[in-house]
Amino acid sequence: MKCVICKSGEAAQAPVQTEIKACYDHLMVTVQAEACAECGEAYYSAETMRHLERLREEFTRKKIVPPSVGKVYQIS
Ligand SMILES: [Zn+2]
Repeated sequence: MKCVICKSGEAAQAPVQTEIKACYDHLMVTVQAEACAECGEAYYSAETMRHLERLREEFTRKKIVPPSVGKVYQIS
């Protein structure tokens, strides 16, 4: 599949790390997607979008509590 963002790269199946945000919490998720070899733009299937949406919902409601891999800091 030709990338519609940079119009030069070719998107191919690859594991892509994406991020779900819930307030100050960020959930890193690795999913299979079509990723552009040139610009890195990722194209998710409808099924993957649903999967991410479900994860966001469960994560927001604390139905799933994945292990923490880092912290978010802020200076105000
Ligand atoms: Zn591209």
